[in-house]
Amino acid sequence: MDLPLENIQLAARDSQPALVDFTQHIVATPSLPGEEGDVADIIHNEMVNLGFDEVWRDQVGNIIGKVEGGDGPTILLNGHMDHVDTGPPDGWPYPPFSGQIVDGELWGRASVDMKGPVACMIYATSLFHRLGLRPHGDIYMTVPVMEEIGGLGTQHLITHLSAHAAICGEPSSNTLRRGHRGRVELRVTFEGHSAHASAPHLGVNPHYGAAAFLTHLPDLTMAYDATLGLSTVVPTLYATDQLSPNVIPGRVYLTLDWRNIAGETPEDIVAKVENLAASIESLNQKVTVVIKSQEFTTYTGITQEIPALFPSYLLPQDDRFVQAAHQALVTALGRDDGLDIWRFATDGGHLMTADIPTVGFGPGDEKLAHTNQERISLAQMEEAVVGYFALITALAEAV
Ligand SMILES: [Zn+2]
Repeated sequence: MDLPLENIQLAARDSQPALVDFTQHIVATPSLPGEEGDVADIIHNEMVNLGFDEVWRDQVGNIIGKVEGGDGPTILLNGHMDHVDTGPPDGWPYPPFSGQIVDGELWGRASVDMKGPVACMIYATSLFHRLGLRPHGDIYMTVPVMEEIGGLGTQHLITHLSAHAAICGEPSSNTLRRGHRGRVELRVTFEGHSAHASAPHLGVNPHYGAAAFLTHLPDLTMAYDATLGLSTVVPTLYATDQLSPNVIPGRVYLTLDWRNIAGETPEDIVAKVENLAASIESLNQKVTVVIKSQEFTTYTGITQEIPALFPSYLLPQDDRFVQAAHQALVTALGRDDGLDIWRFATDGGHLMTADIPTVGFGPGDEKLAHTNQERISLAQMEEAVVGYFALITALAEAV
């Protein structure tokens, strides 16, 4: 693409009022997982109005916009349309669905995670049409559903769309990301024998097995990666199979949240937890370990069972897409922020499992995601439009 950088910057500036307007509109439209229908319609219409060549909704409700390019490589952009709950609204300085602008920042749930970044990606992709340019190859702007509960949308997307490279637009304060740890949710069941609480000798109380296990859990040797750091595991939820306080339960269910590094498979993790349980002498009860899985229904009425798994991934520092993306951002943004990883898991892990090399970049401070202080800088959004445009072009040239 031999168009001068100033033209891209000028176009990003010109489209900024419309971009901000659109972002306010989608932030003001709640879209919890499974309830994304209204925001999906708005996003669909915006892409049509911005001149995308094709816009459609797939079975599970993902919105996909296509810009037709030449014979070159296909580039995919990805940003989810759902968000986490607001928590108590009175904890927010401004109402969570107001989209209010204060001191150059747009407030509200999902402003950072990630309707602000989604709006910037859509506008960056639309610049090709606006400037009368033909991209090297096709561009797919994908806006999936249900990322916050495991990534049902993107897991469906990769069954019918492919690309040579992708950009995951989660917030990164406009710096480049090349991976993150994954997340595996496990359920550990301790099986005892239920009995009347007045006759403990007639039962086997699974609480003691769970207690022995929990005492030894911190002894596990965790995997380590120089970039991603240590894997971690924490117990989160705890339940029994009883409702009455005067019954020895037959079973205890313990939930573990495991953050795994790249290369550490869910099967490895299950085996590690099983081995730990087997090695504890005082734990003479049956213990089963499974990856948790739950049924979800999309706003389009599709019900699917989704395991609580976000794959970890890490592109090497010298990967050609990482290198090209880094160079492109240095040129487009006029500074070198280096390379980093995300602390949280993203749909990028699902794209990588479909063999689509994925770099990360997005406006907004990731520390504000999932908080009642969530807000995004408008200046960062304008810069992100330039950044995304540069990345689309650079990734296509790197294939
Ligand atoms: Zn997100």
